[in-house]
Amino acid sequence: MDTEDHKALREAVAALGKRHGRGGDTEQLWSDAGRLGYLGVNLPEKHGGGGGGISELSIVLEELGAAGCPLLMLVVSPAICGTVIARFGTEQQKQAWLPGLADGTRRMAFGITEPDAGSNSHRITTTARKDGTDWLLTGRKVFISGVDIADATLIVGRTEDARTGRLKPCLFIVPRDTPGFTRRPIDMELNAAEKQFELVLDDVRLPADALVGDEDAGLLQLFAGLNPERIMTAAFAIGMGRHALAQAIGYARDRTVWNTPIGAHQAVAHPLAQAHIELELARLMMQKAAALYDAGDDMGAGEAANMAKYAAGEACVKAVDQAVHTLGGNGLTREYGLARLITAARVARIAPVSREMILNYVSHQTLGLPKSY
Ligand SMILES: Cc1cc2nc3c(=O)[nH]c(=O)nc-3n(C[C@H](O)[C@H](O)[C@H](O)COP(=O)(O)OP(=O)(O)OC[C@H]3O[C@@H](n4cnc5c(N)ncnc54)[C@H](O)[C@@H]3O)c2cc1C
Repeated sequence: MDTEDHKALREAVAALGKRHGRGGDTEQLWSDAGRLGYLGVNLPEKHGGGGGGISELSIVLEELGAAGCPLLMLVVSPAICGTVIARFGTEQQKQAWLPGLADGTRRMAFGITEPDAGSNSHRITTTARKDGTDWLLTGRKVFISGVDIADATLIVGRTEDARTGRLKPCLFIVPRDTPGFTRRPIDMELNAAEKQFELVLDDVRLPADALVGDEDAGLLQLFAGLNPERIMTAAFAIGMGRHALAQAIGYARDRTVWNTPIGAHQAVAHPLAQAHIELELARLMMQKAAALYDAGDDMGAGEAANMAKYAAGEACVKAVDQAVHTLGGNGLTREYGLARLITAARVARIAPVSREMILNYVSHQTLGLPKSY
């Protein structure tokens, strides 16, 4: 449930979203939100942030989404990268990055997905090897958002473990223009300001301090970033679902083709009521996940963050589908802007972890059922 502070934050961000509106200049919104302190609400005060947590940052993203202007980079820059650096970075990395991530003057993308690993991130092959005190990073990534507008990308690689021969995940800050680090935009059927990229890392030379945190604690550090990512994707989905639903409700109240507005027909009203209930339920789970995460319960937050992402993705897809349907032909016009949400809503079902992988997680981790893979 929202505290008084949360309500005030929600209202203030909603007002910014309303001023900006759908289809405005995303860069302008990013810098306005940064100036007002919204982008860094979760980051430590000592480094220019608001001293709050993912609970607060998820409110920011949800409200901007509900206003029709979500900022996808909130999921990666302050939520994943900011969190990982704040929790595990060296003092120098914190000073170098956190104030900029907090006020929005600097941005960081996040790259874990690989073409040959996909959902099975244990299979990633981007490999870091030592060369004197430097690191040399080689590999490929795919679907990485916002690399062109980010000052650097936090790349998940692996080092070769000399003892066991197994590979271990570790995180590197790779500045955008580092030699050997190239990107190619992917032609996505998505109407969004942020683009997705395929990345090639060809012996990218990085100084020792490009490694975030501890080479041996990679998995723990990675999960510290992945839980906020899931919670923030839930916020993204809930905001988008609310935005679509609000348009459908407004339309259903006014549009009259028989004697009463179409919203009086239960066939129109009930699915909208259902969509509202499911978005509210998803938000409750998101708030639970954020509260657990902010309280330092990484394990408890893991299950809740997965469930919240699942519920929000499903609720968003359904809300958008029903909203489009409620507008009839207008649901597919550019003017109303709902049709473009059909593909956008699917992102929340696929990324950062797909619906099936969450069902797998709950089957195995929560229910104790055996694994098929
Ligand atoms: C718009 C967008 C933005 C993105 N941004 C980023 C980003 O910034 N950084 C980043 O690192 N990644 C990003 N991604 C990548 C995203 O995280 C991946 O697409 C996602 O993890 C799924 O991986 P995949 O596409 O390789 O699908 P695959 O892993 O190939 O899965 C394909 C299908 O098979 C199913 N499947 C796979 N394994 C199983 C199994 N064991 N049981 C049941 N079903 C299974 C999946 O559920 C899915 O439906 C983005 C993706 C999109 C679409």
